Amino acid sequence: MKRFLVLVMALVLLFTGTEYALADNETASANTRDGGELVIMLDPGHDATHGGAVGGGVIEQQAVLKIGLYLRDELNKYENVKVYMTREGMDCAFPNTIGVPEGSKRCNEARVAYADSVEADVFIALHLNSYTNSTPNGAIVYVQNNNFSPEAGKISQELGQCIVNRLAELGLKNGGIFQKGSAADTRPEEYYYEDGSIADYYRVLRYSKKVHMPAMIIEHAFLSNPSDVALVLSSEDGLKALALKDAQGIVDYYGLTLKEGCVAGELPDIQQVPETQTKPSPEPEPQPEPESTPEPETEIETQIPEETETEMIPEETEKVEEPTEEDTTADDLDASSEPKEFPWGGIVMLVVMFIAGGIGGAVGVRYYLKKQSAMHKKDEE
Ligand SMILES: [Zn+2]
Repeated sequence: MKRFLVLVMALVLLFTGTEYALADNETASANTRDGGELVIMLDPGHDATHGGAVGGGVIEQQAVLKIGLYLRDELNKYENVKVYMTREGMDCAFPNTIGVPEGSKRCNEARVAYADSVEADVFIALHLNSYTNSTPNGAIVYVQNNNFSPEAGKISQELGQCIVNRLAELGLKNGGIFQKGSAADTRPEEYYYEDGSIADYYRVLRYSKKVHMPAMIIEHAFLSNPSDVALVLSSEDGLKALALKDAQGIVDYYGLTLKEGCVAGELPDIQQVPETQTKPSPEPEPQPEPESTPEPETEIETQIPEETETEMIPEETEKVEEPTEEDTTADDLDASSEPKEFPWGGIVMLVVMFIAGGIGGAVGVRYYLKKQSAMHKKDEE
């Protein structure tokens, strides 16, 4: 039935010449839980020409390609699944988007068009997140909203949630799913769907939605967060673990079953943070090496700051508030506390008086004695 529809649509396309006429009129992609073949388009973000983010010594377009290849191999173990990739190497797979204005955008549009051309049931973009400071961490999935094609939005959201839940099992923070609506104040022709509803912000989500194709962007972890990098991004095992969790999420949602004789990929043990933690254990004896001691410290630093930083913010605000309160009360206290101070002044006065009295007395006695002696002298004289 779908083939027939596509044929009809193709004829329509021929006559109208509108690129997305086919897609816009197409019925929502089958969820394939009805038993049909599930066609998955994996889209490792960016490429050698259209670069992504870099952080912690990890280059996004390289890391997400590895995730994509692991994910493809894992999904191929399941029945009724057909996996495509928008690229299987570092080169841009759509050369006509190289060296043209806004090449990255054209490339993303071409990736979606390719997915549509193979009748993909779902478009899964694989990315890594990055931020201007190192605090944000964890996995999040950008999903489509419910506008224009609620069916696509529903699948996007439900599948996205399944995947991010699985990713969190690796020890990553579960950032959940996010919908990001377009900014309506710029390029309005791009920011509304043809029915006037607010479009999805991200291009691959928007263009997929236009062809009723569920799509999502998996932001696996933060390149800008040292803990995320150490846990899953800086090692082959970590990248493989991410791919296996993506696969589990997809398997969860679509209820896929393994082909006969196939075994689900074994999750690498990434609980021990790679490289940094494996080094100190083999060399506990050569203590004089200064490298072995600082390394555990840096590990602790990468793990602790997340909690302490979030806890420190309220503490700091409390500290800011407290002094103002203390200032006003302190003034009152200062005024009332004066009498409570130890009466040094009184003691000094007493001592002075005592000394003065003593001196006075002594002078008086001496005067009396002198007088007496004088008198005696007088007497003597
Ligand atoms: Zn990216």
